[in-house]
Amino acid sequence: MKLSHVFQSLKARHSPTRVTLQQYGTLFATYLGPQWLRACVMALLLIGSIVLELLGPQIIRTFIDTLQSDSRMQALSIIALLYLGVALSSRLVAAFATYFSEDVGWNATNQLRADLTRHCLNLDRSFHAAHTPGELLERVDSNVETLVTFFSQFVIRILGSGILMLGILVLIARENVWFGAILGVYLILSNIIFVYVQRRATSIYTLHWQAEAELSGFWGELFHGLEDVTSSGAAHYMMRRYFHLQRRENTTEIKSIVFWAGFECTGLILDVISMLIVLILSASLFVQGMISLGTLVLLLTYTAQLLAHAFDIAEQLGTLQQASASIERINEIYQTQSGVQDGPGVTFPTGALALTFQNVSFSYEAAQTVLHTISFQLAAGEVVGLIGRTGSGKTTLMRLLTRFYDPTSGSVCLGGQDLRQARLDDLRARIGLVTQEVQLFQGTLRDNVTFFADTIPDQRILEAIEQLGMSTWYERLPQGLDTELSSDGGGLSAGEAQLLACIRVFLQQPQLLLLDEATSRLDPATEKILTQATRRLMAGRTTLVIAHRLSTVESVDHIMVLEDGRVLECNTRAALACDPTSHYNHLLRMMNAEDMLA
Ligand code: ATP
Ligand code: MG
Repeated sequence: MKLSHVFQSLKARHSPTRVTLQQYGTLFATYLGPQWLRACVMALLLIGSIVLELLGPQIIRTFIDTLQSDSRMQALSIIALLYLGVALSSRLVAAFATYFSEDVGWNATNQLRADLTRHCLNLDRSFHAAHTPGELLERVDSNVETLVTFFSQFVIRILGSGILMLGILVLIARENVWFGAILGVYLILSNIIFVYVQRRATSIYTLHWQAEAELSGFWGELFHGLEDVTSSGAAHYMMRRYFHLQRRENTTEIKSIVFWAGFECTGLILDVISMLIVLILSASLFVQGMISLGTLVLLLTYTAQLLAHAFDIAEQLGTLQQASASIERINEIYQTQSGVQDGPGVTFPTGALALTFQNVSFSYEAAQTVLHTISFQLAAGEVVGLIGRTGSGKTTLMRLLTRFYDPTSGSVCLGGQDLRQARLDDLRARIGLVTQEVQLFQGTLRDNVTFFADTIPDQRILEAIEQLGMSTWYERLPQGLDTELSSDGGGLSAGEAQLLACIRVFLQQPQLLLLDEATSRLDPATEKILTQATRRLMAGRTTLVIAHRLSTVESVDHIMVLEDGRVLECNTRAALACDPTSHYNHLLRMMNAEDMLA
């Protein structure tokens, strides 16, 4: 038995098993049901390999007994060939059974992984805010990985070993009832010891598991913020923290290895004792002439097989524990329902969409209201510049429009339709969003603007670039659409990333445009191109733009000023600029044209 396997399986015992039989049943039915034919083949092969494994020692007994009574070479050769045939077929059938079980296991877990990924994608932002990417990765990948063994080996080994052991016990008892009884008692005893050790192991493995998780979390945090860590001179601090965490991980690991060694020793001692008893008993039976030499060998071989499979079952029970912990964690995700539910579907008008916020209040957490009874209307095709201090709720307001969250009270209507009634994918297809931080993906510029959709021809992308007035920028790119970008920023500045987002939105042709300008200062050339691109994007669309630059606000019809989640003022830009008491006028006076507004 591989130490690492059992070690792994014991490690998982940190979590109490609360998975019910019904849950196991549902899981098997959902993911093994569609593969029933393969599962049947797997079961048949399993039974075949068990029968062949039981047959081996019987042939050896016949061989020895024949050798003693009638040593004709021909009979002996036939028996030897038969043994060879049985041994070979047993290996072959076992190999096929393993292949099928792995296949069934991987198919089942691939499906489970796909279902989980889909489910996670549909969960709202509050779920994603509460779970780190590392944690989700562990659940969708590592926890599901554990179930491969559960779906494949668990069945083949627990069931297989169980049936095999029962068969061996019956065959041994047929030879000698006492033998059967002694081995039966031994198995029960060793299982009791195993369960006891397993319980003791829980606390040790919990500590090790926690230390490991903390270390992984540390790596995630470090690599994510590598730029900040190195630039702020925090590398020494991070190294100290790393040493601390690594030391804890090592200490707990050593403890668990020592524990495992003790456990394995106990197992070995038990094995040796039981083998000794069997040897003494069978030798005395042989000396008294009650059993033949062949039967003696048969009993010893069966005992060795029995002990090996008893350990195998113990190991597999560990896998079951590990699977239970994983199923529990996966179930937690499945049971999380998105706070944002898909609506029945509505028909939106074509062209630019009117927008209405009616007494909208919202809070991320119950204790802190971020938006307070906000009401405003935007006619179709109007462009509104949203300004306000940092943290005033501008981005939040946009998140309500894309239904990343729903308002705590009040309603948001688009094209006269309540957003809650619309289907989410239909709604989001009508809204173009350019956020403060544009996410790039590992791939070419083409992949990044089309989101890997190969149905959009290059010609359309190039037209979009031209119509947005970005040709000069595009021509500077070394490989044009084939320029490789990477998910960590890929050599694009914040402004350039927003240019890329503009192309994405232009290709989408939305009816409502939401623009959250990059707060970082852009170089004049990029800013000029971006301003031109966004202006062209706004044409013929209702637009809500969070403006951080005067140049953007200059082109809007209306201005809305937010402060602490409340609308401070909302009017035409000209009216607010002329009103000396207005906040906007105050801002204009305070800042020169180059300054940020927020
Ligand atoms: P900025 O100009 O800096 O982008 P903003 O006006 O867009 O600011 P929001 O991001 O809307 O501000 O945040 C408004 C308030 O909501 C802030 O107090 C912020 O701390 C809080 N907030 C934002 N996102 C979350 C979140 N996911 N969970 C909890 N609180 C949040
Ligand atoms: Mg913001």
